Amino acid sequence: MNNVLVIENISKHFFDDNSACKAIENVSLTLRKHEIVCLMGPSGCGKSTILRIISGLDTADSGTGNGENKEQRHSSEQVKTAMVFQDHGLFPWLSVRENIAYGLHLKVRSSSEKVDEVVSKLLVLVRMEEFAKALPHQLSGGMKQRVAVARALAVKPDILLMDEPFSALDPFTRRELQDEVLRIRDQLDTAFLIVTHNPEESAYLADRIVILTRRPATVRKEFSIPASHPRNMAHPTSIELIQDITKIIASG
Ligand code: ADP
Ligand code: MG
Repeated sequence: MNNVLVIENISKHFFDDNSACKAIENVSLTLRKHEIVCLMGPSGCGKSTILRIISGLDTADSGTGNGENKEQRHSSEQVKTAMVFQDHGLFPWLSVRENIAYGLHLKVRSSSEKVDEVVSKLLVLVRMEEFAKALPHQLSGGMKQRVAVARALAVKPDILLMDEPFSALDPFTRRELQDEVLRIRDQLDTAFLIVTHNPEESAYLADRIVILTRRPATVRKEFSIPASHPRNMAHPTSIELIQDITKIIASG
């Protein structure tokens, strides 16, 4: 089936003082090669926690990843992931080129020529070649997020995990970056799991939308969207989908 991610029945508690708070309950999720899945749900329902578990930054209490039959397993052991956050998280003292190279220097013991070559390709991919020497404070919000995407792609992830990546951007820049996601997906074959609060963004980008319930998060509803890209957001089907998503999320 070409799945790059299969998580089955993951659950997660957090412990506050002496009480346990259940954040996620029996969430199962698959992601196929080349697929863009948008993960939605009410604020505080556990979306970021799910991304953290998939990336290996946190662990589930129970459940399995990628079909492995082991308890307390998280998926990062099977697939290579990289994360992009709402706040670009670039190092302010490093240039665009150095920021993108940072992950590579850490991950692989490549020669600096090899790193230079990979970074140059990524600069072209996110259309930032002209700004290679700029520092983050010299860039617009959209440009910073492009660099953050390039830095995440430097490790050649199977899945790019994005946590509300464009929510701080104005609508025009947001659309530009959404189009970048579509272009990068086609060029690199990377799968995307994108947390977003924006129904319009999901309807524009996603092959599939997974909507979670209030905490503890369980999967409430899934939509498959067969329409090809670029999508016409003025089409009645798009408008209806956006209305449906909004209604479901608002009702928890
Ligand atoms: P979302 O991204 O959907 O807004 P989160 O995954 O950040 O939600 O959080 C889900 C729930 O788990 C929230 O109620 C949050 O307060 C709680 N939570 C998240 N991380 C921690 C933590 N490290 N310790 C305690 N509670 C946490
Ligand atoms: Mg979050």
